[in-house]
This record gives sequence, structure tokens and C-alpha cells, in this order.
Amino acid sequence: MELGLRGKKLLVTGGTRGIGRGIVLAAARAGADVLTCYRQESEYVESLRRELKEAGGDHHVIRADIGEIAEVDRLVEEAGNRYGRLDGVVNNAGTITHIPFAELPADEWARVIDTNLTASYRVIQQALPLLGPGGSVVNIGSRGAAAGIPLRAHYTAAKAAVIGLTRSLSKELGGKGIRVNVVAPGVIETEAFADMPAERAEGLRATYSQKTALARLGTVEELAAPVLFLLSDLSAYVTGETINVDGGI
Ligand code: NDP
Repeated sequence: MELGLRGKKLLVTGGTRGIGRGIVLAAARAGADVLTCYRQESEYVESLRRELKEAGGDHHVIRADIGEIAEVDRLVEEAGNRYGRLDGVVNNAGTITHIPFAELPADEWARVIDTNLTASYRVIQQALPLLGPGGSVVNIGSRGAAAGIPLRAHYTAAKAAVIGLTRSLSKELGGKGIRVNVVAPGVIETEAFADMPAERAEGLRATYSQKTALARLGTVEELAAPVLFLLSDLSAYVTGETINVDGGI
């Protein structure tokens, strides 16, 4: 089935690694033009640029720290300058730390809320003039936000709030023909697993696999697929929804 993403203009935050990279590459291979950002220089930036060049299309990978409002504004302005409009926005970039709540410093609380929640508010607000009828916003949540996770109160608070933001905006923007949805990943295997000691990675795989009905972790491609569905007109009557992509956790 044709997704109908060819020629669509997309902004995806945090596309150099992990789930974001999977979304960017899947969208580019489906014919969309994608502008994405990252925070720090790494080997992943150039390799993404190479892969996007191979996919063909008008893609841009730029540095912008979405934890800073001014950087978000610059990012969206760049998308406007490059494309003149946006058909879809994916708020993917996120950050997580593991800290006992009693010891959670205020600045770490603020940093995690800013990156996982405030950035989504600002990206969507700034992108509104570029998003016409048919526009689609996909916010990447977390399955853990519904369940709760020890040592991650700041992260799960932000991700739970993303669902509230999404539901309210779906109602506020629906009249303009703009849809807003959440994709909530369970445990998805990203480069983070490859970067950790093999024994630890195996232990995590075994632990999390046991918790899912499908008895395995998810792949970035399996996460990207429902995001592309929500960006496409195949989901034209879906808004305010959260799709859990968690292997039946
Ligand atoms: P990764 O850490 O693997 O990748 C994050 C990406 O976002 C990188 O490209 C990173 O760029 C970018 N990024 C992070 N912070 C910023 C920032 N302040 N400004 C700009 N770019 C930034 O994350 P995942 O792929 O694992 O997660 C992606 C999303 O999915 C997040 O929202 C996360 O909370 C959510 N999620 C992931 C799960 C999983 O199992 N992987 C489970 C549940 C939710 P750089 O390389 O420059 O740091």
C-alpha cells in the first residue's frame, strides 16, 4: 500500500540516533523530505547525512539543542526557510536519567522536563503557521509513563504530560485539519545497546523480553512504521490517540 508521503515536508527532532534515526530514514525512503536535528557532534551525524543522500530527496541534518527555547525557534525557522511549509512534525528527541526521587536536583528536573515536554510545546507552537489542513504531529511518548518507573519520576512526569498536551491540542487544532497523536514505545533496541558492555546488554534484553507478550525487544523500524502511518493520510481520521508500540508489555 502506498503511504503517500512522497514530497511531504517533515521536521523530526533528534534524528541522528535511535528511534529518531529510524523514523528519518523510513520517511526519506518513503519519499518525504526531512529536516532533523541533533545536540552534539558524533559519528552518527555524518553517517546519517550519507544514508539520506543515498535515499535521495531534500534532507537537512542540523545542530540545535531543543532543550533551549531559542534553539527550537531557530530549528523551526530553518524548516520554514528550507521548505516553506510543513506537512508533519515528529517530537522525538528525549533524554533520560536514573536518579532516586529524594536526590533529584531541581536543575535536572528542569532539564528533563524542558527536553521531553517543553520542547514539544514550543516546536508545535512555532510550526503552526507552517502546518496547513492535513498536517500531522506525532509526539513520541513512553510506555513507562503509564506504568510508572522507579528512579525516573522526572522523565515519566514529562512523558505523561505529553499525552495531556496531545489530547488538548487534538481538540484545539482539529478544526484546522491538524491531527496530533502519540506513539509510546516500550523497550526499543537502539545503538545504546551496542554501546554498552555485551553482558549488560544481554541481561537487559533477557529482562525486558520476559515482560513482553512477543518475548523480545522492538526495533527502530517497528517503531517508525506506526509513526509513518500517523504522518500519512491513511490515518486521516485518527487524532488525540496514543498508540503503544511495546510488544504487548
Ligand atoms: P537516543 O538517546 O538513542 O537518541 C536520541 C536522539 O535525540 C539523538 O539523535 C540525540 O542527538 C537527540 N537529542 C537528544 N537530546 C537532544 C536535544 N536536547 N536537542 C537535540 N537533539 C537531542 O534516544 P531513543 O531513540 O532511545 O529515544 C527516542 C525517543 O523515544 C525519546 O523521546 C525517548 O524518550 C523515547 N523512548 C525510547 C525508548 C527506547 O526504548 N529507546 C522507550 C520509550 C520511549 P545526540 O546524538 O546529539 O545526542
